[in-house]
Amino acid sequence: MNKIRVLPNDLINKIAAGEVVERPMSVVKELVENSIDARASKIDIFISNGGKSEIKVVDNGMGIEKNDLKLSVQRHATSKLSFNNLEEISTLGFRGEALPSIASVSDFIMQSNNTINQDGVMIEISSGKIKQIKPVKKAKGTSVTVKNLFSSTPARLKFLKSDNYESLLIKDFVKKIAICNFGVEFNLIINEKKILKTSRNSQKDLKKKFEFRIKEVLGVEFIQNSVDFIYNDNNAKFFGLIGLPTFNYPNTKNQFIFINNRVISDKSLNQIFKVGFRDFISHDRFPQFVVFIDCPKDEVDINVHPAKNEVRFKDLNKIKSLIISNLKKTILEIGHKSSLSNSSEALKKFTKKPINQNLILKEENNLADLNNLRNDDAASNFENNLESYPLGFAKSQFHKNYIISQTQGGIVIVDQHAAHERIVYEHLKDNFYKKSIKKQILLLPEIIELDKIIIDNLKEKLSLIETFGLKIEMFGKNSVIVREVPVILSNCNLKKLALDFIEEVLELDNSLEVENQINKVYSRIACHGSIRSGREMQIDEMNDLLRKMEITPHSGQCNHGRPTYIELNIDEIEKLFGRK
Ligand code: ADP
Ligand code: MG
Repeated sequence: MNKIRVLPNDLINKIAAGEVVERPMSVVKELVENSIDARASKIDIFISNGGKSEIKVVDNGMGIEKNDLKLSVQRHATSKLSFNNLEEISTLGFRGEALPSIASVSDFIMQSNNTINQDGVMIEISSGKIKQIKPVKKAKGTSVTVKNLFSSTPARLKFLKSDNYESLLIKDFVKKIAICNFGVEFNLIINEKKILKTSRNSQKDLKKKFEFRIKEVLGVEFIQNSVDFIYNDNNAKFFGLIGLPTFNYPNTKNQFIFINNRVISDKSLNQIFKVGFRDFISHDRFPQFVVFIDCPKDEVDINVHPAKNEVRFKDLNKIKSLIISNLKKTILEIGHKSSLSNSSEALKKFTKKPINQNLILKEENNLADLNNLRNDDAASNFENNLESYPLGFAKSQFHKNYIISQTQGGIVIVDQHAAHERIVYEHLKDNFYKKSIKKQILLLPEIIELDKIIIDNLKEKLSLIETFGLKIEMFGKNSVIVREVPVILSNCNLKKLALDFIEEVLELDNSLEVENQINKVYSRIACHGSIRSGREMQIDEMNDLLRKMEITPHSGQCNHGRPTYIELNIDEIEKLFGRK
């Protein structure tokens, strides 16, 4: 064993760099956060080769005092702490580690000026060794250039991915920081191409300001397909936008969570939202949202990780249940609303055909029909009623699966099977919880032969199955007999229904929460009771379905998160016909 020695400073910095500076994105993060702490209103970020050859961050913030420049690149030197209170942190940085860590593993140049009319200073450091400090001409603010990151630590360099991938991580980070600093102008330039640009955003109204920024960063679709998520009491405040369940996404990239205005990437938090959306989105799709959580500073510890992107709540369960219950409430309020982006998708699929005589004739005919309707008393009643029936009145069915209905603002096209599936599903769940499943005794009980192993397992599940509304008894050695089923399912193929039921119950994971188990079983069998695609429907029956959708929770999407209807408003239709 060697003698115990204190590590030299440059080695300490390199070790710290291992924690703070994982990859180019983490350098960008630290530099941009410093700019924000310096109250910059404009931050430009230049990246070359995924940040491996060069990262440059230029801000117009308060700058660094000449005599402090050398100090700023020393370990544990920070201007951001009032030494006695870690809990009062309101800046993004406070450890005083970033600059020395970055400078220890790169060729580093920082220029800064905290005045308007005097010279600034620059410091140049290479792999942790100060090369020079000298006065420079520099506008107020700070610019940091980091070249050849990790070139002196080849093992770390090897760990980096392709330039494209590293650039993508940087872009994702800048998106996040731009969303939560919605008054700051950001420009991200990668290999001389402008990749992201946000404006100064001088709107006064906070909500409008926020929405404007969301439009810039995530696109107008995000605003159109989301609803407000707002909550406010002594324990916590949330504020943000929650995407409609039908506006789901293949990964978690469009999930933005900020705590006390800090970018957070903490998987356990994303998981909470996943739980809130369970039952509305298929398990391999993800909700989109932007949520700011504000909680008292002493309720949350952000000092957990050197990169400060994980948090620890004093009372995680409290936050968890607040988020989940409010999510559920919000989703409930969304009701039958389904994603608008579907209709703009639909719009894209329409093509304008050259005008032909037949079409014009047809249109005239339809006009005549409409005039007839207008003269009719019943018709004017019908128009008055449109207001109170958001899904309108059925006009016809086409391709034996889609209902067209006229609404006050346009037309709606309903997928009859998907819509009915959600109705059956919600009905079953509702009856279950009210302990009032209406059952139908079968006149001709269904006998089903089953595998011996299934029979053995099934015996102890019969009473559980009965609580779900299906009465099954053993029948001889290798059969069961189905005696009762929920009324709403009584018209379907009973054998298929019972087999699915049995399979689902036998496969139930007992560690799941009860609510989840119920959802799984009913979601599996709801489709049996649903109107099939391919079945012709009369107008009355169609209207009946529309009315049921209006009063059924979550009827805008089927159990798998697909929309049950799309809407084209008259504006869009008029655009298609070149009238607008
Ligand atoms: P921390 O941000 O934790 O304080 P850093 O190593 O990131 O530690 O920065 C050290 C100090 O350098 C900061 O406390 C701040 O005073 C100063 N500094 C760094 N970047 C900037 C900047 N862009 N503008 C003004 N001051 C800066
Ligand atoms: Mg910092």
